[in-house]
Amino acid sequence: MFQDITTLLLDPKAFKDTIDLFVERYRDMNISVVAGIEARGFIFGPPIALAIGAKFVPLRKPRKLPGKVISEEYELEYGSDCLQMHVGAVEPGERALVVDDLIATGGTLCAAMNLLEQVGAKVVECACVIELPDLKGRERLNGKSLYVLVESH
Ligand code: IMP
Repeated sequence: MFQDITTLLLDPKAFKDTIDLFVERYRDMNISVVAGIEARGFIFGPPIALAIGAKFVPLRKPRKLPGKVISEEYELEYGSDCLQMHVGAVEPGERALVVDDLIATGGTLCAAMNLLEQVGAKVVECACVIELPDLKGRERLNGKSLYVLVESH
């Protein structure tokens, strides 16, 4: 069953409360970059970045970013996919937060973390609105901390 966050966006108070929960958690963690995963990480990432005074870096599907990119391929249930990030967007030593709407198998967050770690950033945490715990994606994150607001079974 597809978990659809667009209904949350129709309720301005619920959407704001969602962003506020993340902002409350991350405002004092010295995070300099929020990396959002295409496409729904682009909905939640930017308002968090603005509120905590961090830059926003989009992690995009192939051939979408105009500049020089680094790439990370990852496995899907059927086939594979790839995320790309602009070279120079994140500097070595930066403290990064990875944001997406949902974690299922964890493959997408893993690829996002690998991109950031390739350029020498430290991933402080991954943040999602929804976790599907039955798929055990959390276990694929190599011990990296994951923060979610809702579990869906
Ligand atoms: P994973 O790589 O298996 O963890 O899948 C997570 C990625 O797939 C995220 O970018 C999600 O946006 C997307 N995704 C997978 N299942 C759903 C769903 O039920 N609702 C919304 N997005 C989903």
